[in-house]
Amino acid sequence: MTAPSYWRERKYRYRLIAKYCRNCDKKYYPPRLVCLRCGNDKLEEVELPRKGTLITYTWVTQPPNEFAAYAPYAIGLIKLDDGTLIFAQLTDVDYEELREGLRVEAVFRKNV
Ligand SMILES: [Zn+2]
Repeated sequence: MTAPSYWRERKYRYRLIAKYCRNCDKKYYPPRLVCLRCGNDKLEEVELPRKGTLITYTWVTQPPNEFAAYAPYAIGLIKLDDGTLIFAQLTDVDYEELREGLRVEAVFRKNV
């Protein structure tokens, strides 16, 4: 990553920042520049709640090469407390603990 792109994107790191269309009351995560419903290009930034509920999940045992060191790992679809759906890696959880409806909280880590 270049220094200019690091500074440009720094506020999005370690936070769940979405774009919000006031016309449609619709949030986009990952953020978009234009609303898919109405074409509004004046979307506002909003921080999403960090807590939510696990909707569904799966274990990845055959990841792409760049993620091979992390395998096996779980990924899941999470409904945040404001209703926004996000797809994320699930960490700090054992195989036996994972279940639909599990309460989860976002954590952010530096990739080193
Ligand atoms: Zn819209």
